[in-house]
Amino acid sequence: MSRSEGQPKYNTREEVDFVIIGSGAAGGVLARELSTNGFSVVVLEQGQYRTAADFKHDELDVIFNNELLNHPGWNDPQTFRKFASETAVQMQGEPPPAYYARGVGGSSVHFTANYWRFHQSDFMERSLLGPMEGTGFADWPIGYEELEPYYTRVEWECGVSGQPGPFEAPRSRPYPVPPMPVKSSGVLFEKGARAMGLHPQPAPLAILSKPLNGRPACIHCGFCMGFGCEVNAKSSTLASMIPAAEATGRCEIRPLSTVFRIQTNAAGRVNEVVYLDAAGKQQAQKTRAAVLSANGAETPRLLLLSESARSPNGLANSSGIVGQYLMGNGHSVTQAAFEHPLNEFKSVQVTRIVHDFYENDPSRGFYGGGGMDARPFLDSTPILHALTGMPPDKPTWGSEFKQMLRHYFTRKMSVLGSTTSVPLASNNITLDPNLKDDKGRPAIRMTYMDHADDLAMATFLQDRAVEILGAAGAKEIWREPVEGGTIQAHLLGTCRMGNDPTTSVVDKYHRAHDVPNLFICDGSSFVSSGRGQPTMTIQALAFRAAEHITRFARNGEI
Ligand SMILES: Cc1cc2nc3c(=O)[nH]c(=O)nc-3n(C[C@H](O)[C@H](O)[C@H](O)COP(=O)(O)OP(=O)(O)OC[C@H]3O[C@@H](n4cnc5c(N)ncnc54)[C@H](O)[C@@H]3O)c2cc1C
Ligand code: SF4
Repeated sequence: MSRSEGQPKYNTREEVDFVIIGSGAAGGVLARELSTNGFSVVVLEQGQYRTAADFKHDELDVIFNNELLNHPGWNDPQTFRKFASETAVQMQGEPPPAYYARGVGGSSVHFTANYWRFHQSDFMERSLLGPMEGTGFADWPIGYEELEPYYTRVEWECGVSGQPGPFEAPRSRPYPVPPMPVKSSGVLFEKGARAMGLHPQPAPLAILSKPLNGRPACIHCGFCMGFGCEVNAKSSTLASMIPAAEATGRCEIRPLSTVFRIQTNAAGRVNEVVYLDAAGKQQAQKTRAAVLSANGAETPRLLLLSESARSPNGLANSSGIVGQYLMGNGHSVTQAAFEHPLNEFKSVQVTRIVHDFYENDPSRGFYGGGGMDARPFLDSTPILHALTGMPPDKPTWGSEFKQMLRHYFTRKMSVLGSTTSVPLASNNITLDPNLKDDKGRPAIRMTYMDHADDLAMATFLQDRAVEILGAAGAKEIWREPVEGGTIQAHLLGTCRMGNDPTTSVVDKYHRAHDVPNLFICDGSSFVSSGRGQPTMTIQALAFRAAEHITRFARNGEI
């Protein structure tokens, strides 16, 4: 564990301006913004404080032993079920259903860094398309125009490489650095997509193609998806935001601090945040206000854990909406092998995308939209390739298997389709009634089954992927089954924003309707899911929230 020189050390009995819970994609931005704007800030983060020097190319430890996830199976189990009628169970030998990284920087440390802005339609589909029976399909209380300046700040201040595409919404500034150099998968995808009359474009990535803001460019190490970046070229908040927050001298990052309760006083205001420190000792940090940024699974869990006589169903939950409308984005995977080596194990994952199918199209016969990208995916690293990257119905051991490993590892790529996710009240995060973690907290219970339209959209994109790969000259193409997701890396919508306190948890400034000095800003704030890469929007929301929280604090309105 390491920490910057010069960051303050606040006493827990000293009231700070803000406690931020979670230091991930959203929490890292809020930490920098609020401390830069002059406030005293304590960030409580349950995971370790790693730096670039701590990251390694060890596939077994990082991917299979879930090093960056701290392997919740050991001390913080979760349960899963598809429907409320089933008993949720702990999945054995698999990553946890709520799949996220613990540590300073959160899941922005190990993510793949696809950074798509939402389109205007994403914020207002309910108005454009009308109601969807039996769902929580709704408009956002803000529109694209309101968020555009903050998308631009994410691109320039966190660091996003790219080039505007033909379908994207209007932008006020170009990307700060050009797209990453195209990979073999990108060249082939582009060739196949153009042959199909589509409009492939360079992929926007939260990865630096050139030095920016004192950080270096990517060195194309190839250990990117699921790994931390050893040179700080991936624009995690660990690399881009946390150092600047600490440099203010007003922000203390407190790692290995697991929050288990947000305490409120008799007036219903947050007055301290209760956590277990690195030694397992209970502490309580006094604060004037709290910002909850623990992600779309842990944020609702913490609110539900913070119930009281005043809030018997959980803090900020008079609506009963906390934990509801979990969205995860649907996906389809199509694998292909080519005659000549592609050597996809190098560099970043994605260099080309297709957004021709982004918008809803009634002629498809179902609701939805999505994007496609080309990447090594299951062939990035050797063990993953051996276990998941081989064609079906082939030997899984012996000399033929070894020959296949050698042949396919360099010749493979995949096309991923990422889709909308319909907000369903039947998909949610609740507290498991039976299972507890090693700290005595009820475990996360995820109930999740994709809407039929999400699966139809994923299949539609898979059909297009097969056509594109065929047009690109693939020798073999095979489909991964499109089925309901049991592991979600995009954790969205569980504390949705809205103007109506009876149908939403936070207002359009991320203030909890029920608790005036509690702000909630992370993936949980989403009203709809976008088309598959949510983190650009999570961070734009965080920049915007910080600006409004600052205004409220300066005006004495918190
Ligand atoms: C392998 C992988 C690849 C991905 N690739 C992409 C991609 O290409 N594009 C994209 O847009 N998104 C991607 N994502 C998703 C992306 O990482 C998340 O959307 C994003 O990081 C969520 O931001 P957040 O602020 O909501 O939460 P997080 O980044 O998860 O941060 C939450 C933080 O809160 C901490 N925390 C939680 N509970 C507590 C507690 N009780 N006490 C103290 N601290 C707590 C956590 O440890 C964590 O550090 C990927 C995810 C994974 C797993
Ligand atoms: S491929 Fe580039 S951005 Fe990704 S981890 Fe390696 S050096 Fe960092």
